[in-house]
Amino acid sequence: MVEIKTDASIEAMREAGRIVAQALTAAREAAFVGVALSELDRAARAVLDEAGAGSPFLGYHPGWAPAPFPAVLCVSVNDAIVHGVPGAYRLRDGDLVGLDCGAVRAGWVGDAAVSFTVGRARPADTRLIRTAEDALAAGIEAAVVGNRIGDIAHAVGTVCRSAGYGVPDGLGGHGVGRRMHEDPGVPNEGRPGRGMRLRHGMVLAIEPMVAAGGRDDHYTARDGWTVRTADGSRAAHVEHTIAVTDDGPRILTAL
Ligand code: MG
Ligand code: MG
Repeated sequence: MVEIKTDASIEAMREAGRIVAQALTAAREAAFVGVALSELDRAARAVLDEAGAGSPFLGYHPGWAPAPFPAVLCVSVNDAIVHGVPGAYRLRDGDLVGLDCGAVRAGWVGDAAVSFTVGRARPADTRLIRTAEDALAAGIEAAVVGNRIGDIAHAVGTVCRSAGYGVPDGLGGHGVGRRMHEDPGVPNEGRPGRGMRLRHGMVLAIEPMVAAGGRDDHYTARDGWTVRTADGSRAAHVEHTIAVTDDGPRILTAL
């Protein structure tokens, strides 16, 4: 079931979203060659603590996972697409880093992700990240009243495929509200004009993922969480939580 949010609820979700943006910024600013991924989690956690916000990631334990998620931040490096666990690994020159963070404030959730490189960027990674960002912008642009979920999915997928990249199967966006994952699902590929019609008050996480090798398949690493490309190629992931409104899409997880 899709929960339609009131305008007051959307304002409250904007506060949660702003905290997510601040946490992602802090984690990104902590990301240098030689820094352990656990330090990035610590930087994000400090922002959530300071803001009096909780984490929808910490302790998250879906049925398929062997253990609760141990951090407030997912850190996915190089061939990791999403759900990377921030541990002892130290960043190396040229690593491609994806950060995904959530916050809960006054009972409302925000969810967003960024990708970037540390040290000397490979041109191929810069193009990969740019494509994910372009796909996100296209998806947001399609998130207007009267369109359908398939229009968002089609906009995202078209940008990713046109660049020649893989679109990881079965991974994508979702409704957001009092819970991190609500209906409807927001796939990264789809047919225009299909799926649920968009209404004022729907809040959605749109999250394109692209795989440089052009393949869509992936596997879960032995930690039970990290999702990696099957061919070992690099992946990028970006995400915003947005509200569909009569005045157009509103990004709730901007700074
Ligand atoms: Mg996320
Ligand atoms: Mg999400």
